[in-house]
Amino acid sequence: MAQRVAVNDGAAGSKRTSRVRVAVRLRPYLDKQDEKGEGPCVRGLGPQKLEIINWRNATETLQYQFDVFHGEQTTQQEVFLTSVKPILPHILNGQNASVFAYGPTGAGKTHTMLGSQEQPGVITRAVKEVFRLVEAQGKDLDGWEYSVGMSYLEIYNEKVLDLLSPGSQDLPIREDKDRNILIPGLTRTPLSSFTDFDTHFIPASLNRTTASTKLNQRSSRSHAVLLIKVVKSQRGPPHRQQTGKLYLVDLAGSEDNRRTGNQGIRLKESGAINLSLFTLSKVVDALNAGAGGRVPYRDSKLTRLLQDSLGGSAHSVMITNIAPEYRYYFDTFSALNFAAKSKQIVNRPFVRETVLAPTIAPGKRAREEQEAGGSGE
Ligand code: ADP
Ligand code: MG
Repeated sequence: MAQRVAVNDGAAGSKRTSRVRVAVRLRPYLDKQDEKGEGPCVRGLGPQKLEIINWRNATETLQYQFDVFHGEQTTQQEVFLTSVKPILPHILNGQNASVFAYGPTGAGKTHTMLGSQEQPGVITRAVKEVFRLVEAQGKDLDGWEYSVGMSYLEIYNEKVLDLLSPGSQDLPIREDKDRNILIPGLTRTPLSSFTDFDTHFIPASLNRTTASTKLNQRSSRSHAVLLIKVVKSQRGPPHRQQTGKLYLVDLAGSEDNRRTGNQGIRLKESGAINLSLFTLSKVVDALNAGAGGRVPYRDSKLTRLLQDSLGGSAHSVMITNIAPEYRYYFDTFSALNFAAKSKQIVNRPFVRETVLAPTIAPGKRAREEQEAGGSGE
């Protein structure tokens, strides 16, 4: 794995803003996902670390470190406050940002991004916050005004489909002379409030999830991309304009579809999914290696679309979702290897009785944590 740049929390004044921050969120253990009653195989070790059993050698544990680790108990609000809210003010100043949920199907990507009525996810909270920021700014911003708009699309089989205009064809991705990425023909709906957003977004996202159960679990095989655009315009001459874009992405499942023996169209889909996720992982690795090497944005639709909002001067966060049950072990393992800043093998068995997280005493977590060297392996 490439050597990665040391932790840089996107601190104000830092020039190195191109790094993608990586958070990992472990969802709670679900009995119904564990027919054999094996218990969890992953557990948190503090605000940046977790450990997973080493299947090759049960006397060892693998420990991983990330920018942020969100344990089972983490609320939707905490995920939002830590990983998403800090990047939102940039959208009002003509900068771009992106938030992705990555991980195997069933690990909590949609919960994190969309959530439910009772536990709204990143999307609801981020859009509300954007409107709050716009209103707060509006009061002391003489001579400028803001407009907010949304687009919502799906990348399925390397095709770009407009979710606000069902039945539309594959849309092209273009780049203008200022290197902004555009999708001519994509619906852009102006929004005047959060309620307005809800009115347009809810039916479109329901459409997508309902269709999914009929069509090969399409929602786990496509990338759902919500774009919130904020345009700041000068009322008088010279009518300057700044556009900031926020991408909120629920990625396709990162599981290895070849292993589950899909055939025909599904195999073709798997290829397309693997291409865009594989390219995304190469892009994130190239950005985080920070060596100024080639970033392969053009190798897939997803990364091409996100080119102006991932790396460069953009602010990007990847929330890697994982599940604690054994049936997810190999997909968890590969998601962690993608997300980790560092990894080490620790010579002690995975301690099972301390794992049932909802009842764990906080003090039990603090034991024998070993600091990672900070370099990639
Ligand atoms: P994915 O979108 O990655 O396939 P989902 O978000 O649909 O996964 O989550 C799978 C199941 O786990 C859902 O029933 C969801 O409600 C539940 N779940 C996921 N994350 C959490 C969490 N943090 N807390 C409680 N339940 C969760
Ligand atoms: Mg999902």
